[in-house]
Amino acid sequence: MSCLSCISDLERVILHPTSSQGEIFQSNTFVAIQKRDYPSGNLINSSSSYETAKRNVIIGTTTSKTEMEQRENNTNSLDIKQVASVSKMMDAKHILHSAIFHPVLREWQSKNSTNFDSYNLMLPIFVTDEEVMEYISSMPGMFRMGVKWVKSVVAPLVRKGLKSILLFGVIKTLPKDARGTHADSEQNPVIRALPILKSAFPDLIIACDVCLCPYTSLGHCGIIGTDDLIDNTASIKRLAEVALAYAKAGAHIVAPSDMMDGRVAAIKQSLIINGFSHKVAVLSYSAKFASTLYGPFREASGSAPAKGDRRCYQLPSGSAGLAVRAAARDVNEGADMLMVKPGLPYLDIVKRIKDAHPEYPLFVYQVSGEYAMLHHAANNNVFELMNGVVESITAMRRAGADCIITYFTPLLLNAWYRKSKY
Ligand SMILES: [Zn+2]
Repeated sequence: MSCLSCISDLERVILHPTSSQGEIFQSNTFVAIQKRDYPSGNLINSSSSYETAKRNVIIGTTTSKTEMEQRENNTNSLDIKQVASVSKMMDAKHILHSAIFHPVLREWQSKNSTNFDSYNLMLPIFVTDEEVMEYISSMPGMFRMGVKWVKSVVAPLVRKGLKSILLFGVIKTLPKDARGTHADSEQNPVIRALPILKSAFPDLIIACDVCLCPYTSLGHCGIIGTDDLIDNTASIKRLAEVALAYAKAGAHIVAPSDMMDGRVAAIKQSLIINGFSHKVAVLSYSAKFASTLYGPFREASGSAPAKGDRRCYQLPSGSAGLAVRAAARDVNEGADMLMVKPGLPYLDIVKRIKDAHPEYPLFVYQVSGEYAMLHHAANNNVFELMNGVVESITAMRRAGADCIITYFTPLLLNAWYRKSKY
């Protein structure tokens, strides 16, 4: 039972000592009653008042005045071990601190309109274990970069207003294996880049994609069992380990993109048990569709599957029902933020999920194929690139996106920066 002094929006009502209902509520006891019904300190001294009060009782038992005063006067009386164990068992869905500990997170919790600024954009960055700056031919203007390059690429964008980035690890020299050992090893490029970025850009919020496909020999997002299908239990255990490693390295956000069943719950519990529940948020790729629009990304991240079919765990493009169920499931498992991927062809899903869960910031990933399509169209004089980009992002905002993960972030930041100069 809760102590009444902990219930902030309730007021105490003193029951009259001589009330005829004294057989239930003894004198000098308190009951919690909704504030709107009784002003603080009212005496209940009639049967009708008592009946109304009884209907409005929030707490099932009462606490004596003496007991309550003792508790209030002695703040050290709680057993810290018991409190810690209750905290660890807390339902992940009830944790709010992980969604508001950073100014950018608070912006995402506060805005919803068709306008957008730098708060509404997140830049994906591919970090490799090779110290190179490598052009990605399928994504005009995009590079894979070694850890030592990331800081110098991000610095001018932060000066122009960049608020958030999403890191993807790519391994070229480290070996891949069945369990994705280098997803969370010390040599992992994301784990190496995190402390550098955090100390150089203390206000930048850093998300890390959590998946096994860039690190597994078969290129699947989970671990493959002996029957050549996904071993879901082994996969979510491994994903929770990887997410925890990114949290320990300094990630503000871990973003599972694997689409395994139950991975949000596994990751959230791991964060709670290890003391990260108040400083790491979970951004779930809730509705990730099996899409033809990921082709350029797979070249960028080197994560095309060697065999098997990702359609066994990513959503069919025609299934709105599964997308809505997936978002509801992630909410129940404790996700702080939700995502729809890809963007423009799935705006009906964005709208449905935002309508169903308006309390949760919703991300839309404008994926590599969308990026390439807009570039190719502009290069062929179908439209001017900036106009196409602004229209696509405005449409995502209209549908309900709070933040758009887009490779066009530098283009927009540079344009706004130039405009502010004149
Ligand atoms: Zn994956």
